[in-house]
Amino acid sequence: KTKKQKPGHFNFFDSTTQSELSSWAEYEESLKMALEKGEFVLHYQPKVSFESGDLDGFEALIRWNRGEGGFISPGWFIPKLEENGMIVDVGYWIIEEVCAFINKMSAKFSRDFKVGINISAKQFINSTFLSDVFSITESNRIDPRLVDLEITENIAATEVTKAIETIQRLRERGFSISIDDFGTGYSSLKYLKELQFTTLKIDKSFVDPLPGDDKSLSIVRSIIDLAKNLDKKIVVEGVETEDQARLFKELQCDILQGYYFSKPLSEEDALQLAGEMDKQIKPIV
Ligand code: C2E
Ligand code: MG
Ligand code: MG
Ligand code: MG
Repeated sequence: KTKKQKPGHFNFFDSTTQSELSSWAEYEESLKMALEKGEFVLHYQPKVSFESGDLDGFEALIRWNRGEGGFISPGWFIPKLEENGMIVDVGYWIIEEVCAFINKMSAKFSRDFKVGINISAKQFINSTFLSDVFSITESNRIDPRLVDLEITENIAATEVTKAIETIQRLRERGFSISIDDFGTGYSSLKYLKELQFTTLKIDKSFVDPLPGDDKSLSIVRSIIDLAKNLDKKIVVEGVETEDQARLFKELQCDILQGYYFSKPLSEEDALQLAGEMDKQIKPIV
């Protein structure tokens, strides 16, 4: 095992300076070897159930471990992997890795935890996506009810008919489907009606200005109403403050996620947290 990383510690490269540009090109070149070299790693961010304050499960978030270069944010390399087509292979690696994580938890703990997996558009529309998801989870003997696939609205908006069918077949098997970053994409309400998703994830950009911003609050209330009327669950992402946690508790949201509760954790730390599941992560008062 490599030395323990501080949870959530990685380089964002938010501001690109001129001197960094040469290393960008180098990064792009070495990204092609990252899977082979075992440089990808999954971190797991807790999802907290609002009613009890208990751990509901995790979202798997990929990091690229550059050793001394630190962790590189998926916000930068996922689009690159989509461009060069590697996202399909990396995507399968992610699903395999999550299956192994779920099995580790099942072996250790008496109760189950769900794990969310982000699926990019390129992956989702790949012709063998469904059969590959089924075969990977089957060969790992995973209960599909423990797997939540997070897709964005844009996936549904590009190939509507196919998306509707793919989601339906996943649901028939017992997988759940979350619409990620809800409210930031292109989906129309018409398609939303036809997609058999399970959960809406309210995007962090609506959460950031809360409390205190009436317009954001109105939008968030409307999304929550919409989800409830459609009989969907709600996950709120990017909850950073106690005031926000309290607000969403009042608004009766099902599951909260954000730095207020926990940053994404290494697998080791996630397993430890799951082991302490009897304790509340942080009570919402
Ligand atoms: P996402 O799926 O919407 O994930 C939420 C992002 O917000 C994560 O960033 C997470 O670390 C961050 N986050 C969570 N809570 C807070 C908070 O309270 N405050 C702040 N400031 N940030 C918070 P991350 O890990 O950098 O991932 C960014 C995006 O990259 C993800 O957005 C997702 O679209 C993509 N991504 C990450 N992992 C994967 C993956 O395994 N596969 C695919 N296809 N995409 C991934
Ligand atoms: Mg996500
Ligand atoms: Mg999200
Ligand atoms: Mg988001």
